[in-house]
Amino acid sequence: MAGTLTTITTPEQAVARIAYLSSDVVISVQPSLASDSEFSSHLKQLAKQKEQSLVAKTSDAVPEIQSVRHNNDPLLSVFTPIRSGQLVSVTTTSSILLPSVAHLYMLADLPVVVHVALGPKGFPDYSAITSIRNSGWTFLQSWSLQEAQDIALSAHALAIRSGKGVIHFFDPSSGAVAESIEGASADVVRAVLNLDNVRRFQSAPISGSGIYADDGRVAVVSEQPEPLALSSGAATDPAAEGEVASPLLTSQSSVKSSQQSETSTPPSVSTATTIESAAPLVSSEDIYKYVTGIWAQLSQLVGRQYNAFEWTGPESAENTIFLFGSDVSLFSDAIAKAQSGDSFAGAGIITPRLYRPWLGAKLIDTLPKSVKRVAVLEQVSRKTTKWGPVLIDVLTSVKSAVGGVETIVGYQLGYITKDSVKQALSGVFQNLTLEKPVQNLEVGEREVPQETSEYDISKPKLELSYTKILDQLFGSRAFVANSLDSDNAGVSRTISATPEYGFGSLLARKERRQKFVAEVKEAASNGRFLTEVPKRALAKWVASAEDAKKSEEAAEEVVSKLAIDNSTPAKALLKNKAFFRKQSLWLVGSDAWAYDLGNSGLHQVLASGENVNLLIIDSTPYSERAAADANRRKKDIGLYAMNFGNAYVASTAVYSSYTQVLQAMDEADKFNGPSIVLAYLPYFGEHESPLTILAETKKAVDIGYWPLYRWNPENEKKGEPNFSLDSERIKKELKAFLDRDNQLTQMMRKDPQFGAVLDQDFGTEIRAQQKRKAKDAYNQLLEGLFGAPLTILFGSDGGNAQALAKRLGTRGRARGLKTIVMAMEDYPVEDLPTEENIVFITSTAGQGEFPVNGKPLWDTIKDSTELDLASVKYSVFCLGDSHYWPRKEDRVYYNKPGKDLDRVLANFGGSHLAPLGLGDDQDPDGYQTGYSEWEPKLWEALGVSKVDGLPDEPPPITNEDIKISSNFLRGTIAEELLDTSTGAISAFNQQLTKFHGTYMQDDRDVRDERKAQGLEPAYSFMIRCRLPGGVSTPKQWVQMDDIANELGNETMKLTTRQTFQFHGVVKAKLKPAMQAINRALMDTLAACGDVNRNVMCSPHPSQSAYHREVYSWSKKISEHLLPATTAYHEIWLTDYDGKKTQVAGDAVQDFEPIYGSTYLPRKFKISIAIPPHNDVDVYAHDIGLIAIKGNDGHLLGFNLLVGGGMGATHNNKKTYPQTGRTLGFVKADQTHIACEKVMLVQRDHGDRKNRKHARLKYTVDDLTVDVFRSKVEELWGQPFLPAKPFHFDSNVDTFGWIKDETGMNHFTMFIENGRIEDTADFQMKTGLREIAKVHKGEFRLTPNQHLILSNVADEDLDTLKKLLAQYKLDNLHFSGLRLSSSACVAFPTCGLAMAESERYLPVLISKLEACLEENGLRQDSIIMRMTGCPNGCARPWLAEVAFVGKAYGAYNMYLGGGYHGQRLNKLYRSSIKEDEILEIMKGLLSRYAKEREQGERFGDWTIRAGIIKATTDGRNFHEGVVEDEEEEE
Ligand code: SF4
Repeated sequence: MAGTLTTITTPEQAVARIAYLSSDVVISVQPSLASDSEFSSHLKQLAKQKEQSLVAKTSDAVPEIQSVRHNNDPLLSVFTPIRSGQLVSVTTTSSILLPSVAHLYMLADLPVVVHVALGPKGFPDYSAITSIRNSGWTFLQSWSLQEAQDIALSAHALAIRSGKGVIHFFDPSSGAVAESIEGASADVVRAVLNLDNVRRFQSAPISGSGIYADDGRVAVVSEQPEPLALSSGAATDPAAEGEVASPLLTSQSSVKSSQQSETSTPPSVSTATTIESAAPLVSSEDIYKYVTGIWAQLSQLVGRQYNAFEWTGPESAENTIFLFGSDVSLFSDAIAKAQSGDSFAGAGIITPRLYRPWLGAKLIDTLPKSVKRVAVLEQVSRKTTKWGPVLIDVLTSVKSAVGGVETIVGYQLGYITKDSVKQALSGVFQNLTLEKPVQNLEVGEREVPQETSEYDISKPKLELSYTKILDQLFGSRAFVANSLDSDNAGVSRTISATPEYGFGSLLARKERRQKFVAEVKEAASNGRFLTEVPKRALAKWVASAEDAKKSEEAAEEVVSKLAIDNSTPAKALLKNKAFFRKQSLWLVGSDAWAYDLGNSGLHQVLASGENVNLLIIDSTPYSERAAADANRRKKDIGLYAMNFGNAYVASTAVYSSYTQVLQAMDEADKFNGPSIVLAYLPYFGEHESPLTILAETKKAVDIGYWPLYRWNPENEKKGEPNFSLDSERIKKELKAFLDRDNQLTQMMRKDPQFGAVLDQDFGTEIRAQQKRKAKDAYNQLLEGLFGAPLTILFGSDGGNAQALAKRLGTRGRARGLKTIVMAMEDYPVEDLPTEENIVFITSTAGQGEFPVNGKPLWDTIKDSTELDLASVKYSVFCLGDSHYWPRKEDRVYYNKPGKDLDRVLANFGGSHLAPLGLGDDQDPDGYQTGYSEWEPKLWEALGVSKVDGLPDEPPPITNEDIKISSNFLRGTIAEELLDTSTGAISAFNQQLTKFHGTYMQDDRDVRDERKAQGLEPAYSFMIRCRLPGGVSTPKQWVQMDDIANELGNETMKLTTRQTFQFHGVVKAKLKPAMQAINRALMDTLAACGDVNRNVMCSPHPSQSAYHREVYSWSKKISEHLLPATTAYHEIWLTDYDGKKTQVAGDAVQDFEPIYGSTYLPRKFKISIAIPPHNDVDVYAHDIGLIAIKGNDGHLLGFNLLVGGGMGATHNNKKTYPQTGRTLGFVKADQTHIACEKVMLVQRDHGDRKNRKHARLKYTVDDLTVDVFRSKVEELWGQPFLPAKPFHFDSNVDTFGWIKDETGMNHFTMFIENGRIEDTADFQMKTGLREIAKVHKGEFRLTPNQHLILSNVADEDLDTLKKLLAQYKLDNLHFSGLRLSSSACVAFPTCGLAMAESERYLPVLISKLEACLEENGLRQDSIIMRMTGCPNGCARPWLAEVAFVGKAYGAYNMYLGGGYHGQRLNKLYRSSIKEDEILEIMKGLLSRYAKEREQGERFGDWTIRAGIIKATTDGRNFHEGVVEDEEEEE
């Protein structure tokens, strides 16, 4: 960009560009993170284009743009980067200057550049500049677009050269009318900045960390001038200013310079720059020398000239104005056009370009000798001294000049326009030329047509989540004093939103209520009501006036009695009826208070001891940078308040625990004294997606940066600890506080489980120690071994690279090599130059990136400048997929990490052991093809290629081995549950727990962060219940809700297999959770694992009796096919002392009559559909049963399908989804037996060697349907009957109320993606719990993850409808697309997820809804599904349109599925991101709307329109894929 021509149209653009090119870091001050400033939009644009900084140390570096809110102490962000040797500039408006004055003083001796657009817009107030004129900075001014660019550049050059801070200020509107200019070229910028000086600064970072330390920064130029002896700054002292000015100016109305000669100090150097007692090493004259040097150079390069003071006018002028204001050209034009009679004809204008240091001598040099009178015009609206600051400057400078200026008169410059300038000038000059001119005249308008204020105040939208909770908890009782929405008559929004104002108004409100209570008391005894009734009610109310709940209850009665009475005193009381309720008084503050606790509203509140509540929202995201910036680290408000002793304190985070926020606010309200509720809501910008906030919150809470806790000093009286910890880890400072107070000991006594984790302080050094330990342990192991050393490092996400590395290690050892195998991230990089032979095996992640555990090492190596690998021999093998990224331009990502690493190691002088090896998933044997060529070369290079007697390699342990040796699924699960040293269980037992319905997972949102902190992943368990047919009683619902709250993560998932799933159950709570599920008369046995899973059944509410009949078969089949092992009961339902608790279905033997000891080759799924609804997706299961109704209305039997299945692997054409094929009809009473026989054929014929080929669908396809059928019939001893006719018309749920044939009512409600949780906007979980408490029928979970409130009698309808409405559960006003959508869990808990799903699909749909609306498709049902990986839990392959995760943020898109779930879809696009998804979808939707035929479904249309080919069988799923064909062309 700097090399190409850039057109610049505004001064802010010019300045932003120069700041960008000349800085390492730009602090961009914004009105809010959601709204750009005039600078920030340009800065972001440059950063987006990856334009490079011209001062960066490396050639490809782009400057860091830090966006900071204007009211968030922006200059604080300067300290850390500038101290580390980075060039920092700030772009801002003038409103931040005065509040930042303390920082300005401290930054004055650092080469920071602050570009200031003066405000308010239209008529800027220069007092923002004059009031900080003595802060020790250099001030430069520009007045036009061209000047803005040149002076901005001069400012940077000057800062670098002088080592001192430079403020460049300008009125943005003064350059706005100019024609556009050309951006300064890179060469000009480089030359003026002088890169030698830049490097000198960057290479000498400044020590010291406290912002209160004196940095003693000196100029970076080598030839240091001698420090000048400066007089101690008289002009810095306002009082002293007065002293200088007053005697001269008050004694008479004009000042004659001849009268000022009594001072003997020559005015050559102003004292104004100096503010510290120690004189800086750079004098004002030095600054002048540097800046004129810079301008001379600029003039040579671009031909424009600049001076410390700019003179315009004839050299013979007698009168002049000294202008300190924005519109110089307005005045100069008017003077130039003056007629001979005008009083200002022939006058000159002088303006200060270099405002500070103030160089009086230069002013005198610039003024023509002919000048006799000077009118000083200052555009300063806030005057703090009697005489204008510029007037004083001019006076002190020219007062001693001999024979020159006679009169100096000050004016206050108001708003002048083209029309009024002549008149203003006439006034100025008429007064000036009087014999006794009047001082301090005002010229121009005082009232200015103002555009909007610089920074309008608005409440960040996201903060609403907390204020909504206040509403929800306290309703109309909640009173937020400084709410932006409140009506504060006559008080500006800016003021009314401040905490001070809010606190004051809260106190006033309290007082008013006290007064009111006194009035009521009086009225209760002496009131002149019509009857005595109100008095009694009032007396009752007075007794409980201070009790929120009781007074609220009494209030209703009082109000109604008063209303009936309607007497004058009654009316008077009713006027203030709001006070009958005891309000919950809240003040909302921000984390900005944390920087200066002593002066903040917080301190006021605490010190007052008043019963008010503070909600302080902290929006600073937890991130490494924030944590590392010592200056940005705020003081801990919670600790401060707890130390105060009299306050209730809670630390909460709505995105971590919703119930804890509720609890904290409720306790705060009840606490009689100040309460502080800290609420975490991290965001970088206001359009931040909830996903990012969620992830950021989780990191902060998990790591202990933002612990969740509550502190109630009242508890002590009850003998309970004051402190309760609601999250797991706390930070050092809090721990120290609690230790000191003995609170931690008390708490741990009460909750012993906290003990272990609280000891783990976080810190990256732990990680370094771990690495060292691991490496040393290996070295010890190798001691005494002979042979060449070989270090093998792997980077692996999926496990393949790791497995290869380990196998290579074993083979190396067998060849006598001293072999170490480690993950790249565990390797101490500093050892790299000492290696003799090193091998890297890595897979390719994301867009050609290193896997997570390879990245840290790569980042260190690639940024290193001093690695010397001259004595290191190395080789790299990389695993990738040459077809992973379909577009040609993306092919570079194929095996990119390996290629990069190989190149970089060579650059550092390493030599090849064997050339780079590339494994490609597309080769016949996948990556093995490339690997088997590469490995022999390695052995050859190491001289061990021909070794005799190599031992056989042990075969890898397979799932089959695990099953055999598990002792009927016991393994050592029971023992591992007792191990509290880790939250995990071993890999072996992980496989087995699946059979018991639980998987170990880890929270992927916090995985990297925990790794960096040296902590093990946040392990927890997912538990899946067995709930055949998805029918649950209301009691069970409440029990499930309790489990989620007390043992899980406060949410439940209704799954696509019609059951409850809990997430986030930690190991210690796993057994209690299993027991609680059992107490609810459910179990989890065989909900996962290589067995028959939960049997599904269409929930079908319209035919209740028939449903009951069919549903009974799902239970029967499920129970018939349950594993018989007693391991489940032993492990989970037995107390730790071995005694059994409750056992549901007490099986006694360890013999598996159906499964045998190796169970099934893979999972096995059965579903039952009740036509015409195919809501269970009957074609997607190993066995699909289609219920056939007899003529008598009863169940006749089932058509039995086999071999449906969803799982597939991306790019592996040997895997595919498949739909079930019909074996025939089975009579009802034989169904479980037929299912058993199908399962047995699979047990004996399924592929147990290759898990990717082990599902029944492959067995059926390999054997053919006919052979498979005959094998089943053989075992069963009878033939299948011919299939009966049936008809499906949809596979989505039918929402809303229906009445069945028995007169009972059923309501299908929409639960987006099956997630049951509460949010600030939607209390769904609470609502369902309340419903469950009164509901007499049942709940049915649907296969589309929704919920049916089933069997509601007419007499209960009203109650339930009311509850549904109260909790907004009756809302079905969603688009047809949303109602027909479904997503799997994916991130953060599913270990297989490659991309988001449940958290993202709703967002994607929202982005499509406007397009649906436009095309009239809002009501149309289009089946859209999403999963995070091709395992396909939400049955994506049967959807009309599906997105399956490929990499984070990238999806494969499929089209053409059948609306009834009868036809598979086909790949349409690979690895597309949101932009492309939206573009494609919008195009398709609008075409579909226009082209569809009557009743034609979206999936069918895509085929008819030729957009996709139909998949007629899973075996042709990969055929005719659009992108493949394109490639072949
Ligand atoms: S489809 Fe994949 S990502 Fe989604 S829940 Fe299933 S296994 Fe996890």
